[in-house]
Amino acid sequence: MKIGVLGAGQLGRMLALSAYPLGHKMRFLALSEEDPSSLLGKTFIHNNNPEVIKKFSEESDVVTYESENTDLKIVNEITSTTEVYPGEMSLRLTQHRGLEKNLLNKLNIPCAPFELVNNVSELTQAVTKIGLPAILKTTKDGYDGKGQFLLRSESQINEAWEAMSGAESILERFINFKRELSLIAVRGANGDLKYYPLVENSHHEGILRLTVAPAQEVSDSLQKKAENYMQALITEINHVGVLTLELFDSDDDLIVNEIAPRVHNSGHWTIEGAQTSQFENHIRAITNCPLGETSVKNRFNAMINIIGKLGPTKKVLETSNAHLHLYDKKERENRKLGHITITSDSYQDLQKSIKNLSDFLP
Ligand code: AMP
Repeated sequence: MKIGVLGAGQLGRMLALSAYPLGHKMRFLALSEEDPSSLLGKTFIHNNNPEVIKKFSEESDVVTYESENTDLKIVNEITSTTEVYPGEMSLRLTQHRGLEKNLLNKLNIPCAPFELVNNVSELTQAVTKIGLPAILKTTKDGYDGKGQFLLRSESQINEAWEAMSGAESILERFINFKRELSLIAVRGANGDLKYYPLVENSHHEGILRLTVAPAQEVSDSLQKKAENYMQALITEINHVGVLTLELFDSDDDLIVNEIAPRVHNSGHWTIEGAQTSQFENHIRAITNCPLGETSVKNRFNAMINIIGKLGPTKKVLETSNAHLHLYDKKERENRKLGHITITSDSYQDLQKSIKNLSDFLP
């Protein structure tokens, strides 16, 4: 099939790398010829030109997207002629933190208490209701911790609101979590559903730096709880493709932080670590093919992001159980340039390799 991707970043690139062995062709709706996917398929530089978007959709049998910040207008235009998976509802609900949290509340899935705020006086009232510390986040366009302010005292209310540049925001209770986990699942058009194991994520300044997969010390009941949240959600929105839940594991409960309607950075370890990668399973789902096994190939896996600077990449190639994935992006502060996956049958050995590659960690 001809698969169109809205966006041409590293996720599109890795989708293409897993789509080719299955015999598909790729098309990308890109912003520039420099984008990481642009050499991996026919690329349409759109600049919001409706003619280019029309051509892209005519040349695609099915369309998917690589970011929750994808323009809904473009998706709606394409949907009138070409199937888009995941559907418009998945995108609409996950583009707005308020809609996302209302959906979680409706399904009785725990998330941090929140209030929508549009000005300083609403923020002041919200602080009274939610309590401090709390996090103020723009409802839209936030990623990697961007558009967020941690409020510790009432004296910061004006400063916090200014940091949102007037954008509609939510104030969220600060959750004292033990660790951050994520759950990735894939659902086919026929409703088939498969889950990857819970993984543990470490962030620095809002950016994911290290994933350990599967997460250690996960009871069957914790995995099941996360899967139950996922099942309720993914079925409710009739999602087709990969869906990710970012979770806080706290003493009180397992709490959903965010929903991503796409392949996720915390699932990059699946390229070498799982029977079928998240990318291949996404492609299988959107092309209405049977889903692949999601079990792990090696007992222990890790993923380290390469951020800002390429660093000593040769060292990765010298590490026998490590694999290098670069995205063909120029060095820039805080930019995701690539990742490393590490696989092992022993936890000690995995930790040794992580330590050996600690130049890539903050
Ligand atoms: P987000 O953009 O919502 O994924 O947030 C980025 C990071 O900020 C998360 O990975 C957490 O480390 C932290 N964070 C976000 N929301 C909260 C919260 N309500 N309580 C504590 N930490 C949070």
